[in-house]
Amino acid sequence: MKRTAIYPGTFDPVTNGHIDIIQRAVELFDELWVTVAINPGKQPLFSIDERVAFLQESLNNYPTVKIDKFSGLVVEHAREVGASAIIRGLRAVSDFEYEFQMALMNRKLAEEINTVFLMPNEKYTYLNSSLIRGLAKFGADVSAFVPPCVLEALKRIN
Ligand code: ADP
Repeated sequence: MKRTAIYPGTFDPVTNGHIDIIQRAVELFDELWVTVAINPGKQPLFSIDERVAFLQESLNNYPTVKIDKFSGLVVEHAREVGASAIIRGLRAVSDFEYEFQMALMNRKLAEEINTVFLMPNEKYTYLNSSLIRGLAKFGADVSAFVPPCVLEALKRIN
């Protein structure tokens, strides 16, 4: 039986921390959907299509990874793509409370789908997209933290 998982997120923009989690999930599942959330409540730096394009470019050497976008409930999108698991990254204890709440709520909504938490290499545990956006705005060198296409895009807009 093919094992499929979904890795949902805002990815504004994708960082090497996300890619570390994706590499680990690829080892565990036959197919991985990396799926960008369309969240009308948030004001992202990059448009949905830019965020999808960065993921496509950064992950084009992973044949089992599929990229798409979704709006609405994660569990519904998981069912649409036939996923039995939702992947989330845990960086620090501070992520835990929110992620725990989400995981249990998603289980209430879809009993058959499990949330799988993966931890990145410790060098990425303090990394998140909003930190990158903030640093890039002030011209800091973020080349160790993002894929080359994101680095170029951040340089262009600043
Ligand atoms: P969201 O807005 O849904 O938190 P993100 O794109 O910021 O979306 O993150 C998606 C998932 O990736 C979340 O589970 C988050 O905890 C995880 N994540 C983000 N950055 C890292 C990182 N540096 N290391 C490990 N996991 C991360």
